[in-house]
Amino acid sequence: MNINCEMARDLLPLYKDGCLSESSEEALRGHLRTCPECRRYLCEYKEIWRAERTEPREAPEGGYPALAKRLRRHRALTELGVGAVIAALGAYAFFRTVRKSI
Ligand SMILES: [Zn+2]
Repeated sequence: MNINCEMARDLLPLYKDGCLSESSEEALRGHLRTCPECRRYLCEYKEIWRAERTEPREAPEGGYPALAKRLRRHRALTELGVGAVIAALGAYAFFRTVRKSI
């Protein structure tokens, strides 16, 4: 099977993910052997792919450890708030009961 440059470039993402059939992969490899343009394209493609994998675009400010710290603090404050509400309700119920019994 002979493929042209356009087809070869369309197949590269699938080739990278290992999703090509044996015959398609063979055709792509055959094309890459004879076509320096597509070989260069593949190199650039791999370069971009690697950069995307190693540098996540939307890393949180201060990186992941800082994010984890912020989340822990947020959870602690939430627990504190819930505890305060429960204590207030308990006190209210207690005083209502005390007032009634007097
Ligand atoms: Zn080509």
